[in-house]
Amino acid sequence: MACPQKGLVLSDKINLKGYRVVELYMDNCTGCVNCALVCPDSAITVYREKKAKAV
Ligand code: SF4
Repeated sequence: MACPQKGLVLSDKINLKGYRVVELYMDNCTGCVNCALVCPDSAITVYREKKAKAV
């Protein structure tokens, strides 16, 4: 799988169309964008949230 952080994991479940779906685990995602870069259909877009500045 393209995600080094296990943010995207191939499910064991099969959907109604007969495909194994990909599950997203946001807590693992670092926003590295690797998944979007290697997706052959460009189906993934990664949005990063701006972090608040430390005071
Ligand atoms: S952005 Fe990086 S860490 Fe997040 S799901 Fe994609 S490959 Fe995994």
